[in-house]
Amino acid sequence: MSAGSVEPLVGILIVITGIFFIYSLVSTVIIRLLNLRVIRRIPQDETIALTFDDGPHPVYTRALLDVLEKHGVKATFFVVGEHAEQYPELINRMKVEGHSFGVHHYRHRSSWFLSPLGLKNQLDKTNRVIKQLTGEETLFYRPPWGHFNLFSLLFTKRYRIVIWSHIFKDWKVKECKEHLLRRLNEADTSGAIFILHDSGSTTGADEEAPQYMLKCLDAYIEDALSRNIQFITLDDAFKLKES
Ligand SMILES: [Zn+2]
Repeated sequence: MSAGSVEPLVGILIVITGIFFIYSLVSTVIIRLLNLRVIRRIPQDETIALTFDDGPHPVYTRALLDVLEKHGVKATFFVVGEHAEQYPELINRMKVEGHSFGVHHYRHRSSWFLSPLGLKNQLDKTNRVIKQLTGEETLFYRPPWGHFNLFSLLFTKRYRIVIWSHIFKDWKVKECKEHLLRRLNEADTSGAIFILHDSGSTTGADEEAPQYMLKCLDAYIEDALSRNIQFITLDDAFKLKES
């Protein structure tokens, strides 16, 4: 192949790479840096919104619900649609026990690698599953890994996009064992939104990490309640539904 025939291919590759970066990484950085419809805090002082991503999981979500029930604490679950379909009894238990729901895609896929139509399908399918199981519309959206694409804001107009004020790397066993409880205790509690994970089955996570997260969470909630810190669902924080 001559140098003359390679140059147009290089040019095409550069253009395709550039379009991909604008569609994925650049869109994510702009949306998050400029806080375009992105919520990181709730409006209440001395109050925390506990949020859990990636479930439901047949073992860990059940154990998590037991911990929350033991302390009388309500939380918000950003569920993966296909997992919700697999474990409807866990979604039902969340609903009965007063927890809130959000969309976290039908499969745990990054928006960076979804076409515009693919993203819309992920949102619509998850919303449909949750509505079928709970009878209620889902009002919140959190994209997997916090990744947006060029069409994310267009297709999520009906949602409040909630990311987090505090993230703890609780998807790693080592982090949970060595740092999580201390990091939870060090986090400021004024309108905080904590992101934790009740499944370790996603790419990059340790399968058993939620087991260790739950131990830390149990101890943390007990201590926080003794300091009169409140826990609240996102529905209640934004007063979007009648109690
Ligand atoms: Zn996730």
